[in-house]
Amino acid sequence: MLKIIDYKGNLEAIATKLDSRKESVNKEVNDAVLKIIDDINTRGNEALFEYCLKFDGYKINNENDLIVSEEEKEEALKLIDEDYMRILERTKEQITAFHKNQVDKSWSLFKDNGVIMGQMVRPIERVALYVPGGTASYPSTVLMNALPAKLAGVKDLVIITPVKEDGKVNPVIIAAAKVSGVNTIYKFGGAQGVAAIAHGTQTIKKADKIVGPGNIFVATAKKLSYGLVDIDMVAGPSEVLVIADENANPKYIAADLISQAEHDKLASALLVTTNKDLVAKVDIELKRQIAYLSRKEIIEESLANYGGAIIVSNLDEAFDVSNYLAPEHLEILVDNPVNTLPKIKNAGSIFLGEYTPEPLGDYMSGTNHVLPTGGTAKFYSALGVYDFVKYSSYSYYPKNILGDFKDDVIKFAKSEGLDGHANSVAVRFEEE
Ligand code: NAD
Repeated sequence: MLKIIDYKGNLEAIATKLDSRKESVNKEVNDAVLKIIDDINTRGNEALFEYCLKFDGYKINNENDLIVSEEEKEEALKLIDEDYMRILERTKEQITAFHKNQVDKSWSLFKDNGVIMGQMVRPIERVALYVPGGTASYPSTVLMNALPAKLAGVKDLVIITPVKEDGKVNPVIIAAAKVSGVNTIYKFGGAQGVAAIAHGTQTIKKADKIVGPGNIFVATAKKLSYGLVDIDMVAGPSEVLVIADENANPKYIAADLISQAEHDKLASALLVTTNKDLVAKVDIELKRQIAYLSRKEIIEESLANYGGAIIVSNLDEAFDVSNYLAPEHLEILVDNPVNTLPKIKNAGSIFLGEYTPEPLGDYMSGTNHVLPTGGTAKFYSALGVYDFVKYSSYSYYPKNILGDFKDDVIKFAKSEGLDGHANSVAVRFEEE
C-alpha cells in the first residue's frame, strides 16, 4: 500500500511534489478578491452587507446583526455539555502551560557613560482571528490562536466567521471563544470579512493583524491585505513524516500516517525507516485500520498521491531526509527518541516516542498546532506568543557622548549624501 520511494538523487523532486500541493492563486480568484477589497474600501458596510448576502445568504439589516449577541451565546452554550467544556478548559491549561514560556521580556542596558538603551515588548493592539464557516469549524484552532494572543497581552481580540442564512455560529466555536476569553464574534467572513477588518468600515474597527485558516478567497484576501495589516503564515495541506527504526510498532505507525492522511486528499504521510520489513507490516496495519474508518476514500487517495516509505541505511540518513523535507509534523519512533533532538534542524513540531502521537499535539499536548507546511519549516516557526507582539528599541544619549560620536556620524552621513542628517548632529554643537 505504501509505495517505496527511491529517494537517492530524488529528494528535490519529492520536496517539489509536496510543495506543489499549495493552492495556487489564479488570476480569476485574485481579480475577484481585489474587486471585493476595493468595494469594501470605498463603500464600507454597504458593500459588506451585500457580499454577505451574495456569498452566504445572510441578510444583515442593521449593525446588531453583525455581532453574536449575549443571548445567542447563552443559547449556544446550553447546547454544549459539561464534559466538553471541561475538555476545552483542560486544553486551555495545557496550551497556556507551554506558551507562557514564550512570553518575552523587555530589557534595558545602562552603560557606565550614561547611555541608556533597550528593547520594549508590546502586544499588538487589535487582532482578528478568522474562523472558517461551513461544516469544518475547529474549536481547537480557536484555542491555538487565541490563547497565545492573550498571553502576549492582546487586549482587543475578535473572531470573524461567516454565517449562513440562519445567522448561527457553531456552538462549539462560541464555547471555545468563551474559554479563550474572546468576547466579540463577528458574523462575517470570506474575502469581504477580511477586507472589512483589515480596512475598517463605518462601524467596524480596523485590526492590526489577522490570523487563522480559511479557503482560497480568505487566504488571498489576507495576502492582499498584508502591509496594511500583519498576517500569519498562509498554511498549505498538512503533512507528517515518521522516522521509525526496526523496533517501532507498525500498528502505531499506520495509525499516525492515517490520522494525517484523513485531513484531505492533498495531505502527505511519509515513513522513513531503516527497516524494509517494517513497511510490509505497516501495510498490513494500514489495510486493517482503514477498513473501519469513516474517511476511507480520502485516506486511500492521499496515501496513494503523497504517501510512501523511504528506506535509509541508517538513522543519520533518516534525519538528512527529514531535514531536507522540513515536515510540518515529525514523529520519532526510535529507541531513546529524546536523544535525537540535536539531529533535527527543520521541523514544525516534533513528537517523540510512541506515546506522543501527532493528534495529541493537534489538541491537548500543549504545543501549537498552527505550523509551517510544505517545507517552510526551514524558515518559519510554529505560531506562538511572539507572533502577537512587536519590539521597539530605544536609546538615550547625553550630550558629551553624542559629542564623542559627532565627527564619525557626520562623516558617515555625508558619505551617504545626506547633509540633513549630518546637520542634525552638527547644529547641536554650534555656539549660540
Ligand atoms: P471559509 O470561511 O474559509 O470560506 C467561506 C467563505 O468563502 C464564504 O463566506 C464566502 O464569503 C467565500 N466564498 C465562497 N465562494 C466564493 C466565491 N465564489 N467568490 C468569493 N467568495 C467566495 O470556509 P470554507 O470554505 O469551509 O473553507 C475552510 C478552509 O479552511 C478549508 O480550506 C479548510 O481546509 C481550512 N481549515 C483549516 C483549518 C486548520 O486548522 N488548518 C481548520 C479549519 C479549516
